Amino acid sequence: MTPRIGHLDADCFYVSCERVRHPFLRGQPVGVLSNQGACVIAKSYELKARGVPTGMPIWEALPVCPEAIFVKRDFEWYEVLSRRMLEIVRELRPAVEYYSIDEMFFDAREMTFADAKRLQRAIYERTGVPVSVGLSLSKTLAKLASSSGKPLGCVMAVGAEEVQQLLRGRPVEKITGIARRSARRLEGYGIRTCEEFARADRRLIRRLLTKRGEDLWWELNGTPVLPVQTARTAHKNLARGGSLGVATADPERLTGWVARNAERLVEALDYHRVDCAVLAMSLEFKDGGAAGAQFRLPRAAADFPLLYETGIKLLERCWGQSPVVSYMHLIAGELTPRAFAQRSLFDRPTPRQEVLAEVKRQVNERLGRFALRSGATLPLADLYADEASSYDVCDIYGKTCF
Ligand SMILES: [Mg+2]
Repeated sequence: MTPRIGHLDADCFYVSCERVRHPFLRGQPVGVLSNQGACVIAKSYELKARGVPTGMPIWEALPVCPEAIFVKRDFEWYEVLSRRMLEIVRELRPAVEYYSIDEMFFDAREMTFADAKRLQRAIYERTGVPVSVGLSLSKTLAKLASSSGKPLGCVMAVGAEEVQQLLRGRPVEKITGIARRSARRLEGYGIRTCEEFARADRRLIRRLLTKRGEDLWWELNGTPVLPVQTARTAHKNLARGGSLGVATADPERLTGWVARNAERLVEALDYHRVDCAVLAMSLEFKDGGAAGAQFRLPRAAADFPLLYETGIKLLERCWGQSPVVSYMHLIAGELTPRAFAQRSLFDRPTPRQEVLAEVKRQVNERLGRFALRSGATLPLADLYADEASSYDVCDIYGKTCF
């Protein structure tokens, strides 16, 4: 048996990127912090060994490991190294899927263990980022293989015995696509490990986890059903938003967040050259509650004034009881490619708005993102003053995982 699919996954990627430009961080317990510096979103192996888990707020992490060094995230830099990694994999392999900022799948047919080692070395030498590589018979197995060897692992699992070893004793939740809820359902049938999953009756898996589960069953048994996607499939929705960092019930700040997320959404719609017919909002509250709503737009649109105005109406609808908001997302739905959109004279933003949008685009292209932005974002002046907030992981185009 020879491998079919490979998976490459950077080791503690955000920390490794920081170490590329700040070599003194090597060997140190390092944590990368979320926007506004509240929580640890990535950690070095040294920090992990000291007992600091991902998600821990910095004020809890510091007493646990006082000598730790914390740095703010910089997704713009991480994307630079991510693109470099992608280029190298593309030089060496015929088909590559840019799965996430630090993970890629590739066609591994006719690859040897030595080839995988060469790929790993090339990436380390040319980017400074350590990666783990897995070669196996399907995407799901290749991903399990790379994660089983971390850090700096290189694992080839193609023979029946090697595959079995990979699955044995490994909890089903290690399989991408099996979340905690699915794992609990499986547990009711005595299926706890990947090996038990692969040996279970296929029809039972289909009944419990639908076709998605059955696909994984085939994948774990060495039959690839999930292809390496070299181009991203068309988006059904585009969303921008995320954590507000500091949760807030201040209507002016929330209005500012609507403007910020609408501006980011306009960028994404422009990039993909699509308009949206529906705009939705989802809010999460500090007390654990959530709310959502959606409105149909009067026309398919991608212009800031209409998206912002609709976003404000959605905020009024979702935020009825004025609780403290911790997450906000704006979601554009029913996307249509612009080339096919039939626009009449009355079916588009006014000429003045179009000129204004074009000026905004050009200024920001030359002076930097958000250099020219809506006045409604003024209550968030603190956020814009912080460079770490200028770029988010979902602003990176071309990934297939979300
Ligand atoms: Mg990784």
